[in-house]
Amino acid sequence: MANIFPPSPAVPDLKDLPLAQLQARLADLGVEGYRARQVARWVFKVGVTHMSDMTDLPKALRQALEQQSQITQLPGLEVYRASDGTRKLRYRLDDQAVIESVLIREPTRLTLCLSTQAGCRIGCAFCLTAKGGLRRHLRPAEIVDQIIQARKQLEPGERLTNLVLMGMGEPLDNYRHTVQALRIITHPDAVGFAPRRITVSTSGLVPAIRAFGAEGLRVNLAVSLNAPDDAIRSQLMPINKRWPISELLSACREYPLPSGRRITFEYVLLAGVNDRPAHAEQVARLLTGLRCKVNLIPFNEFPGAAFQRPSPETVQRFQAILLDHHFTATVRESRGREIGAACGQLAERAPLPPFALDTTAAIG
Ligand code: SAH
Ligand code: SF4
Repeated sequence: MANIFPPSPAVPDLKDLPLAQLQARLADLGVEGYRARQVARWVFKVGVTHMSDMTDLPKALRQALEQQSQITQLPGLEVYRASDGTRKLRYRLDDQAVIESVLIREPTRLTLCLSTQAGCRIGCAFCLTAKGGLRRHLRPAEIVDQIIQARKQLEPGERLTNLVLMGMGEPLDNYRHTVQALRIITHPDAVGFAPRRITVSTSGLVPAIRAFGAEGLRVNLAVSLNAPDDAIRSQLMPINKRWPISELLSACREYPLPSGRRITFEYVLLAGVNDRPAHAEQVARLLTGLRCKVNLIPFNEFPGAAFQRPSPETVQRFQAILLDHHFTATVRESRGREIGAACGQLAERAPLPPFALDTTAAIG
């Protein structure tokens, strides 16, 4: 079997290290703890890739770091732009694995959708990422660097407001690295992103959801429900055979939500499969009593897909039933479909033409 673990760096990678570990690393080099905050600022806030750029550090420390550590920068960036302002950032890693992040511009926010794995092994029937299987997990540095590089792509006046771990991969399948990346992302002295502006989406790995709740990260949780009953869900998402809806929803009921927060249930609407009024009624029954909201995602098509997007009327009718039952139910307007940047369209291959490749932004 191919190795799904990322190659270990030859020397420790500063971008992999939460602050406490960075401090320990510096202590090994005989350096006082407060320097860790300086190094973290250069690595995570300024985004330098060479120790020599850390101008407020003593030269001897810079040299020691240069010899005994590295700072990952994802190679091979290509930027694709859609007419609605969505940008897809595609990286080709040294081992030829391809990953993507997507910048989604909306009137009041700018969201970055991150990948946690190259590919995915969960095998959902409606998802293009599933088709190629899992290439490998990403290291924390490879997850975190997607934010640092996206920030460098922002236009004047733009500021990232939200992060969603909804790109390629199943975040909780790459559990350890995802949690470590989130510690780096949320630490005020590292990337410094507010946890309430971060959402982790999972297909429903029940033991991992329980463990994740106990990590105390205070980020938001989204769960891909996608079906009104076990028969349909098992057909769409093989993971349901292992952890059926009742077990998934118990884990959600017991999830330690910070006050004022709700779990988001994502529901991909597939024409003729899970989009009938009776299905909406079933979903309303399933979710009764849960502190939640529902996000409906009309299916995004891709070549060779076995499903179709329902009509806008069908989507509206489904939403109306949930609203009648007093749920908050929104419809996700998937952006960037023409560049293959919408939910479920991320894959190893380049988007099919026509697309707009912004070569001026490509680096490396
Ligand atoms: N692996 C995680 C996160 C990535 S997928 C998960 O499954 O939750 C992010 C969202 O995109 C999920 O809710 C998934 O159900 C949805 N999705 C996948 N393929 C899609 C498609 N072709 N059209 C619309 N949504 C899709
Ligand atoms: Fe993986 Fe999520 Fe796609 Fe399912 S929907 S195959 S879990 S990325």
